[in-house]
Amino acid sequence: MRYLSTRGHPDRKRFCEILLEGLAPDGGLYLPERYPALDAGQLARWRAVHRDQGYAALAFEVLSLYVDDIAPADLRRLCERTYTAAVFGTEAIVPLRPLETVQVEGQPTPLLLEALSNGPTLAFKDMAMQLLGNLFEYELARRGESLNILGATSGDTGSAAEYAMRGKQGVRVFMTSPHGRMSTFQQAQMFSLMDANIHNISVDGVFDDCQDMVKAVSADLSFKRRYRIGTVNSINWARLLAQVVYYFAGYFQATRSDRQRVSFAVPSGNFGNVCAGHVARMMGLPIDQLIVATNENDVLDEFFRTGLYRVRGSADTHETSSPSMDISKASNFERFVFDLVGRDGPRVRGLFETALSQRGCFDLAADPVFAQVGPRFGFASGRSTHADRLATIRDLYGRLGVMVDTHTADGVKVARQHLRAGVPMIVLETALPIKFAATLVEALGREPERPPALAGIEQLPRRVTRMAADVNAIKAYIAEHCG
Ligand SMILES: *Cc1c(COP(=O)(O)O)cnc(C)c1O
Repeated sequence: MRYLSTRGHPDRKRFCEILLEGLAPDGGLYLPERYPALDAGQLARWRAVHRDQGYAALAFEVLSLYVDDIAPADLRRLCERTYTAAVFGTEAIVPLRPLETVQVEGQPTPLLLEALSNGPTLAFKDMAMQLLGNLFEYELARRGESLNILGATSGDTGSAAEYAMRGKQGVRVFMTSPHGRMSTFQQAQMFSLMDANIHNISVDGVFDDCQDMVKAVSADLSFKRRYRIGTVNSINWARLLAQVVYYFAGYFQATRSDRQRVSFAVPSGNFGNVCAGHVARMMGLPIDQLIVATNENDVLDEFFRTGLYRVRGSADTHETSSPSMDISKASNFERFVFDLVGRDGPRVRGLFETALSQRGCFDLAADPVFAQVGPRFGFASGRSTHADRLATIRDLYGRLGVMVDTHTADGVKVARQHLRAGVPMIVLETALPIKFAATLVEALGREPERPPALAGIEQLPRRVTRMAADVNAIKAYIAEHCG
């Protein structure tokens, strides 16, 4: 399998070449040259693999179709080391839980929750990041290289990256976060890590200041090369690929026959999670609808309703109670648009490079391809607000005794608007309620439960360096700690 850029660059690369890279050289995103189509009987075989050998074995099957430059035995071992009950809490790794069965046009229609948030940082980002940590360690050892990961986080991504990379050979993490802006729980999770290769940098400023520092360091190409600076952001293809697996695992748990269809509702921000669903569907997984659920930051909902993609400025980005979906533009969205316009690289370059940078938007409403968004690609969308979130959390807890986090609540709220008679609807649970306790208390008047392993983490000693929002300060810090 070779990988190409969404903007038409002629190079074709292999999996391990793009593993440690961010964007393609022309600013595009990497995608496989084609989606491997499931052959007759493959779904049945994978169902048996999942049932008899578990999630890690299924992950190996899916990854094998996309990775041909890691020896199969090694790839299998990496999957087995990643997806263990010790790391993800259950043998099922992504257990499916029925919420309720709703009558739609007289037909019983199950609403289910797929738990993706039982990894070390209690958000679904662990599902991909844990694999990425093992892949990075493997590939760096093979090359005899090291990598310094520099990132900016407002919460979930940074902690998932740190827990995935802690103690890994050849990798250091320098993670900036805005001082005093993350939840107490998130701060405690990150800052209590004592691993020598993890560096927490608390910046006097907001998230955008952190991101600007990271961008400035990356723009200094000689510094970047000298200190081997890399990233783990959500455009990384390996992260997306890891996420494809749980669409299959959800499907196998929700159905008995390979002819049945299911839908997925996905709380969305940067479009990474739901884009993995798109890949699964393109491979031939019988997905009826892919429901994109946004919060008040509804860039994606606007596109899927109207065809207009209009990125927002940071001043127009709302701070909400589902903060991991507070985005101004959706960094993985270009991948879907590439498929939507028939994989026309120059056209994508025109849309994302020219139109977006000059006008801040593009409009596909009048283009015949936009009419295909639902019928051909299965996409639908909706938005949810703070009031919806509170109402959904109260309703699920009051009637069913199930507590969901704020992002998952957005997913449930939008899923209900798109139910089709008899088609199981699987909502992806993207975080556990304890991560966003303040809103849960607002909704229910009580604290969510926390996993026993995380009792009292707020009292643990902390390892964090405070810093001004100054590019030279972070460069000096990196230089000093890279030996
Ligand atoms: C990152 C995140 C999302 C958004 O996922 P995308 O892949 O960016 O669309 C949703 N919910 C939670 C809890 C997250 O951490």
